[in-house]
Amino acid sequence: MYMPPINIFGQIGQSAFRSLILSAAKSQHIQAIADKRGLEAGADRFVAGETLDDARHVLERLHGEGMRTYVIALGEAVHTRQGAATAAELYEQLIPDVARHGHGTTFSIKLTHLGIELDRDLALQHARRIVSLAAEHSAFVRLDMEHSAVVDETLGIYRALRSDGLDNTGVVLQAYLHRSLDDLIGLLPLEPNVRVVKGAYLEPPGVALQRKAHVDVAYSQLVRTALAHAKFTAVATHDPRAIQAAAAVAQKNESDFEFQMLYGVRYALARQIVAHGHAVRICVPFGKDWFVYFTRRLAERPSNVLFLARNLGRR
Ligand SMILES: Cc1cc2nc3c(=O)[nH]c(=O)nc-3n(C[C@H](O)[C@H](O)[C@H](O)COP(=O)(O)OP(=O)(O)OC[C@H]3O[C@@H](n4cnc5c(N)ncnc54)[C@H](O)[C@@H]3O)c2cc1C
Repeated sequence: MYMPPINIFGQIGQSAFRSLILSAAKSQHIQAIADKRGLEAGADRFVAGETLDDARHVLERLHGEGMRTYVIALGEAVHTRQGAATAAELYEQLIPDVARHGHGTTFSIKLTHLGIELDRDLALQHARRIVSLAAEHSAFVRLDMEHSAVVDETLGIYRALRSDGLDNTGVVLQAYLHRSLDDLIGLLPLEPNVRVVKGAYLEPPGVALQRKAHVDVAYSQLVRTALAHAKFTAVATHDPRAIQAAAAVAQKNESDFEFQMLYGVRYALARQIVAHGHAVRICVPFGKDWFVYFTRRLAERPSNVLFLARNLGRR
């Protein structure tokens, strides 16, 4: 049913390429070019737009094509109280607005957007308000997983929300981290709703697997365990082999699950999966702070950088 993936990282190595792109993205010069050229320089392939209206148009189109969706208001690494409060207010407007339109759209949030690196308790307070508000609208909010320095605190906040009785929240586990299988096993008594991803950040060998082949094996193990034991599993990948394997395991275990994919990535595959009767939820990111999200998408695939270079040359 699916074409096998091509190993495009063969020649230079995935982690070297990712390191190059994510380090270059920290350059103020490159950020200034991005600000000047805007989303249309290429980021609009992966980002719905800068406003909620832009996101709404994309959501409508995706729902019309049989997709489930989730929305994320872009922003991260916020280190001021005011910045964290602004992010929380954004979600407090976004959730009722999007929930009102139905379609079961869910939400994702990054805890560094809510100031977790500044003050863990502040981020917990904001997260508690947001997830409680979502519960009033029968909506679900997942805590994205970010760089490894915030994994303990992210899982801690997830546990705190669950012990407050908020069951409309979930977490993400990254297969490249050496710790993730243990984290999953530790969460199982909570009957968690987990999204399983390969991992998108630059991490050192002591913390994370470096070779793509090893990450793929770890991903398959983590997904298998989640499908067998978690309450709900979001299999978040564009890897056709992993998708096919997960579908077989889920069928055997009668798991409650869905596939999740990113806006702008392998949409034809998403349609194929839906045509085979499985649910696919597409991540719809929007907002003015799109640059860092965009660079992670570039770092995942060398050909995206060529695509960007061609775009910059043309416009
Ligand atoms: C819904 C969703 C939510 C995510 N949430 C998180 C999170 O919270 N934390 C986190 O660390 N990571 C997150 N990620 C990113 C994830 O960790 C990977 O970096 C990303 O999904 C690429 O890995 P892959 O599983 O698609 O497999 P890969 O083996 O890397 O890719 C498989 C195929 O998908 C296609 N592909 C993958 N990425 C791209 C791209 N950027 N552009 C074009 N084609 C591409 C290519 O055809 C590639 O051959 C999320 C991913 C998804 C799908």
